[in-house]
Amino acid sequence: MKQSILFIPTLRDDPKEAEINSHKLMLRAGYIKQVAAGIYSYLPLALRSLRKVEKIIRKELDTIGCAELLMPALQPSELWLESGRWNQYGDTLMRMKDRHDRDFALGPTHEEIITYIVRDVLNSYKKLPISLYQIQTKFRDELRPRFGLMRGREFIMKDAYSFHSNELSLNEAYEDFRQIYSNIFTKCGLKFRAVEADSGNIGGSESCEFMALTDIGEDTIVYSDTSDFASNIEVHNLKEGEPSPDGIGTILHAKGIEVGHVFKLGTKYSNAMKAQFTNEDGNREDILMGCYGLGVSRVLMAVIEQNNDVSGIIWPKSIAPFDIHIILINPKDKDQLSLSNHLEQALSKLDLDVLVDDRNERPGVKFIESDLIGIPLRITIGKNINNGFVEVKFRHQKEKQEVKIEGIINYIKQNY
Ligand code: ATP
Ligand code: MG
Repeated sequence: MKQSILFIPTLRDDPKEAEINSHKLMLRAGYIKQVAAGIYSYLPLALRSLRKVEKIIRKELDTIGCAELLMPALQPSELWLESGRWNQYGDTLMRMKDRHDRDFALGPTHEEIITYIVRDVLNSYKKLPISLYQIQTKFRDELRPRFGLMRGREFIMKDAYSFHSNELSLNEAYEDFRQIYSNIFTKCGLKFRAVEADSGNIGGSESCEFMALTDIGEDTIVYSDTSDFASNIEVHNLKEGEPSPDGIGTILHAKGIEVGHVFKLGTKYSNAMKAQFTNEDGNREDILMGCYGLGVSRVLMAVIEQNNDVSGIIWPKSIAPFDIHIILINPKDKDQLSLSNHLEQALSKLDLDVLVDDRNERPGVKFIESDLIGIPLRITIGKNINNGFVEVKFRHQKEKQEVKIEGIINYIKQNY
C-alpha cells in the first residue's frame, strides 16, 4: 500500500480536546476523527488495526463453538418493556421515535433481542447449549464521554450470549469464555488482570471483569503481589499492604479500565421474557443464560495507552495496521523506487502488510510521522543502496542497523 494514496491526516500539535496519551496519539497520527462528543470516525489506519483485533476475537470464539450472527442496532421498545429495562436503563439508553410515533432505542447491549430470537426455537433440552455472538456498533448516551474511544457514545463491542439447560453447562461456557478472553487480550498485546466483580446493572450471579492496567483507569483493582487473586475494590475493600485474603502475598492497588466482562446471567431475561425449554422430565424451565461483552474499540485504544513513547505509538505486531513501513527517501530515484517495489512484493508474499512512504516529503517529516504512526519495523531505502545496504529499525528499539540488500528478506524472516 502506497502512503500517497492512503488517507492519514496527521496533526502537528496535540489536539486540545485530548487528555490522555492514546487519545492524543490517535488524533495526531491520523487514526481517528471526532465527529461529535464521544462519536468518532475510524480512518484507514485505525480500521486496519480494528480488523486485526476482530480477527483475533473471531478465531478464538471459533475454538469454543460460538457462532456469529448480526442483530439490528435499532430495537423496539416492546422488548425492553418485557425485560423491564425500558424504565430501568435511564438516560444512557439512546431513545427515538419512528414516523408512527413508536418508541425505539439504539442498542447499548442485546440481551432483549437475542432472547427474543431464541425463545421459541430453543424449546427443548436437546437443543441446548447454544452460544452466539456479534461484533457490532453499540450506543450509550454516556454522562461523560471522554478519552476518545475509551468511553464513546457510539463504540464497537463483541457481545456473546450462551443458553443452557443446567448449571454445569453454564459453568463450562463461562470457564471457556474466561479462558479465551485471556487468550484474546494476550494476543492483542494488552497488559491486563482478570478480576472478580460486582455484577451491577445487568444482574445475575457470578461475574469477572478483564481490566487493562493503566493509570487513566476509573476502577481500582486490589490484587495480590504473589498469587492470581485480584478483585474490584467495590467487592473487596482491601488496603495496600494488607495480607491477601487467599493467604498468599500482600495486597497492592492498580488502576484499570474494563475491556471485557463475563457474566452468569442465570434466568433474569429468560424469566422476564418467557424463554423456556422442556427438560428431560417433560417439565418447562427457564433457560439459563450467560453473557460476555468485550470492548473492541476500547481495546484498540488501551493497547496504545500502554504502548507508546514521546515520539508516538509502538504497536505490538499482532494488531499493527501494517507490519513494515518502507521509507523511500527519494521516490524520484529509479533505483530506490524499483528496490522499494521489489521489497513490497516480496514481503507481501510472506503475508506481511507493507506500507510504503512514497510521498514527496522531506526525509525528516517521513521519519517523524513514521514514529508517530508506530509500525513495528521500518526499512529505509536511501542513497546507501548504491553501496548495497538498506537501514532497518524496530520501532521499540533505539538502534538502527545496516542490512545487505541481498540478505534483507532473510533478515526479516528471522527477526520479525
Ligand atoms: P464501564 O464500566 O466501563 O462503563 P460497562 O460495565 O458499562 O463498562 P459492559 O456493559 O460490561 O460495560 O459492556 C461490555 C464492554 O464494552 C466493556 O467491558 C467495555 O470494554 C466496553 N464498553 C462499555 N462502555 C463503553 C463505552 N462507552 N465506550 C467504549 N467501550 C465501552
Ligand atoms: Mg461491565
